[in-house]
Amino acid sequence: RVFSWYGNSEQTVLAGECEESTHYHIFPEYGVVELIGQDGRPVTTPGAMGEVVATNLTNLVCPLIRYRTMDVAVLGKGPCSCGRNYPLLERVEGRVQEFIVTGKGELLSGITMNIDTDAFDNVKQFQFYQEKVGEVILNIVKKPTFGDRDANYLYQEVGRSCGDDVTITIRYVDTIPLTARGKYRYFVQNMPIRFGEREPAQNEHVASDISA
Ligand SMILES: [Zn+2]
Repeated sequence: RVFSWYGNSEQTVLAGECEESTHYHIFPEYGVVELIGQDGRPVTTPGAMGEVVATNLTNLVCPLIRYRTMDVAVLGKGPCSCGRNYPLLERVEGRVQEFIVTGKGELLSGITMNIDTDAFDNVKQFQFYQEKVGEVILNIVKKPTFGDRDANYLYQEVGRSCGDDVTITIRYVDTIPLTARGKYRYFVQNMPIRFGEREPAQNEHVASDISA
């Protein structure tokens, strides 16, 4: 079995997969980790998602306080069977900008990875793209064998994967551009995802009123 680690180059967070469960233990001596939900408040319900916001404790040269990692993780349910009392992450879902925003404002993760279907058999290249809440564009480069049946099948399969609150539009394109780094991306999120953005606290409002 291979054990995974979760961390970042800013060294604000370190978590390791447990040998007795599939959870990740956060090492609080390394960094203080908070999960901040879409409502801007700390996530307290196991199984709920939040953005990882972290404060490093080991880097005295470049301390980062409540640093937004742009990573989204799911809170684990403790205590772990191994007996360690560290806070738990159930899993790390991915980067904030990899989420789809549904019409209800909910975030869907990893859509392109979850589509296990043969509906793309006659597709040469594809890319999901979002620039409006509740709407996803599927750009497709067709293979010569692509027909009307394929289009209907794609709508059906992708629609099922995204649920009722996301409208899918297929667009046929000649090419799908690579990123500046020459990478091929399956999903481009063009809206800023405000995950874990804190509402200003009440007293901060008061302070700005006074100074204004
Ligand atoms: Zn454990």
